[in-house]
Amino acid sequence: MKNKATMSHLKPKISVIGAGNVGSTYAYTLMIGGLAREVVLIDKNHKLARGIAMDLNHGLSFLSPITIRSGEFQDCEDSDIVVITAGANRKPGQSRIDLAQNNVDIFKSIIPQITRYAPYAVYIVVTNPVDILTYVSLKISGLPAGQIIGSGTVLDTARLKYTISDYYKVDTGNVHAYIIGEHGDTELPVWSNAQIGGMPIERYGREYAGLNNIQHDLEKIFHSVKNAGKQIIEAKGATNYSIALSIQKITRSILRNENSILPVSTLVSNFYGVNDVCISIPSHVTRKGVDKFLKIELNEKEKEQFIHSANVLKNILKNIGF
Ligand code: NAD
Repeated sequence: MKNKATMSHLKPKISVIGAGNVGSTYAYTLMIGGLAREVVLIDKNHKLARGIAMDLNHGLSFLSPITIRSGEFQDCEDSDIVVITAGANRKPGQSRIDLAQNNVDIFKSIIPQITRYAPYAVYIVVTNPVDILTYVSLKISGLPAGQIIGSGTVLDTARLKYTISDYYKVDTGNVHAYIIGEHGDTELPVWSNAQIGGMPIERYGREYAGLNNIQHDLEKIFHSVKNAGKQIIEAKGATNYSIALSIQKITRSILRNENSILPVSTLVSNFYGVNDVCISIPSHVTRKGVDKFLKIELNEKEKEQFIHSANVLKNILKNIGF
């Protein structure tokens, strides 16, 4: 697959499939963050991809050099990372399985066309239902498990950290907490491991925030996190800024081999009896993609919820023939 033409690409090179709300905002974060040297935007709506590339390019005189252009699937050649945001959003009244089937059909058509030109790239799947599409991409492409990552609950975890920090009036950087499981209805916060400033969240709340009704507080926080996406979509039609930054964080960890531990969706096996499903769990993200996931300690309730979440995903996969 590598040839002379390949060598002329500017590195790092990132291809973005789907130049809609999420894809275009992610491209903007790449431009501002100076992470990539070349960005290719690919969308079935060619005019849209061209327009986004033009608009972004017109801001380049204020930033470090970066080449941003629209292209076709063959332009993914020699990409370091391919981010997939192409697909439909859930329409009112549409079931999750119908949405899954719709986007699986799109992936069946595009994945072989992309992997043909970028067999060595690390893939970040963002399109929903992200866990299902990460698994489907792995099966269709035959690439090694770690090379295809779903953005999973990285965004949900960011929302959780923000909401905790806001509630407890503490810097987001001092909050350590994860949401794991499906990116969707059955996701769960791992409260048993959540910490603020190195101490269990319950103790911090009691001793430093004057909050005594811990159970109530945690439920309120998670409720707000779970409804955040819906609220934003009702208010402005789509979520784009925070998901774009979440993908940027995954991108940075890959390109710089940072070994960040992020709750991305990855192929999980042998974890509390869960096998052969892509689901979010804190994982090492490196230059090769996901290097390993962490078999974190869960309490009984969390264990049950995690297993339920995995079963829900496995059922959807079964229903769509995977
Ligand atoms: P959007 O409709 O604005 O953009 C999707 C783009 O995909 C469109 O421009 C469309 O033309 C393009 N597209 C569709 N089929 C294509 C194909 N076969 N080839 C190339 N391009 C194709 O949607 P959006 O708001 O950017 O959201 C994109 C996806 O990301 C959705 O599935 C959404 O649910 C998901 N999302 C995921 C998260 C997460 O945390 N995982 C967060 C936000 C959005």
